[in-house]
Amino acid sequence: MTASLIDGKAAAERLRADVANDVANWKAETGRVPGLAVVLIGNDPASEIYVGSKARQTVAVGMRSFEHRLPAETSQAELLALISQLNADDAVDGILVQMPLPPQLDANLVIEHIDPRKDVDGFHPANAGRLASGLPGLVPCTPLGCMLLLQSVRADLAGLHAVVLGRSNIVGKPIAQLLLKADCTVTIAHSRSRDLPALCREADILVAAVGRPGMVRGDWIKPGALVVDVGINRLPPDAAGKSRLVGDVAFDEGRNVAGAITPVPGGVGPMTIACLLRNTLQAARMRSGA
Ligand code: NDP
Repeated sequence: MTASLIDGKAAAERLRADVANDVANWKAETGRVPGLAVVLIGNDPASEIYVGSKARQTVAVGMRSFEHRLPAETSQAELLALISQLNADDAVDGILVQMPLPPQLDANLVIEHIDPRKDVDGFHPANAGRLASGLPGLVPCTPLGCMLLLQSVRADLAGLHAVVLGRSNIVGKPIAQLLLKADCTVTIAHSRSRDLPALCREADILVAAVGRPGMVRGDWIKPGALVVDVGINRLPPDAAGKSRLVGDVAFDEGRNVAGAITPVPGGVGPMTIACLLRNTLQAARMRSGA
């Protein structure tokens, strides 16, 4: 059996086109344009690439992008003051503070300072609580992207057993909540779980969000399962000096067993920014009551 590939790049392109269309309609109705503020502290090269890409894609779907670049030595008080200013700015519908932060800054305090109605990352405890309570709110982008990919393969996930590997606040836990909301039976596994291969073999849906290259082997996968690989791991350069990205699933093995599988790169990754744009439009609509 060879799994069908879940093409995240194409799905993200479609999602961005839908968002662009909705932004144009919303602008025609309200005269407003959604705005996304991205705050980058320091000059981590990977973060600079993400922030640049977020800004470009924001403008490409017709929204306003506000970039705030602060020096690496920015104090907690200075960052919180900027967030307060963005919270109060009516042109800003979404606020994203790029992680990781320099060591003197407390990520939890920073997240809690963002107005939950503008928390387009969906990391604020108010939004995490709303998700866990089944209330509408802003949902973290990568988990949302995973769900959209799964539902592109199978619209109704009710009754399926989903195993989520990883329990972080930004990926594992929110994915588990979304799967539960979609009426799956959900198991969350982590570094202290026993017999991961046997747990995973039970899964109709297997989501790997661990950060360990190729950890999920082919014989961990139930034949025909839907496999979503969230992991992004950069391997050290090979003999030719080339480094490459791989997921948490041993892809060549997994694709021989799974029913459908997301590749890395080109699976979950591209959906993340597209979902950020979707969240920004949703935040703008929620704030305007539309
Ligand atoms: P974290 O490091 O925050 O969490 C990793 C989770 O995996 C933890 O819950 C940890 O368990 C668990 N884990 C670690 N080792 C093992 C193991 N040997 N067996 C079982 N469970 C294990 O990572 P994130 O959730 O932030 O990210 C996970 C992966 O997803 C990373 O590769 C990251 O790069 C990628 N990612 C991709 C995104 C995208 O856009 N596609 C966005 C965000 C992340 P415990 O809690 O017990 O420590």
